[in-house]
Amino acid sequence: MAPGLELSDYFITIGDEFVCNLCHKSFTIKAKVRRHLQTVHTPSKNIECEFCQRTFKHELSLKDHQDRFCNARRVTAVKDELP
Ligand SMILES: [Zn+2]
Ligand SMILES: [Zn+2]
Repeated sequence: MAPGLELSDYFITIGDEFVCNLCHKSFTIKAKVRRHLQTVHTPSKNIECEFCQRTFKHELSLKDHQDRFCNARRVTAVKDELP
């Protein structure tokens, strides 16, 4: 979560559900979406990419990075090792 933004900027309410704006998970209890945002999307420590040791503040940034770079790279590396 970026500083200066309220927790409520990170979820939207659809009917009876609270939907996380960042990962689109839905919750039926407001306290749960708040807790989700605090635990999953609040930068606390640096998370290290297991493949290239780059560090990220958000789990989602890491996932995005791995999808775009490291997972792709790993697949390529495996292909390269084939005869
Ligand atoms: Zn989320
Ligand atoms: Zn990486």
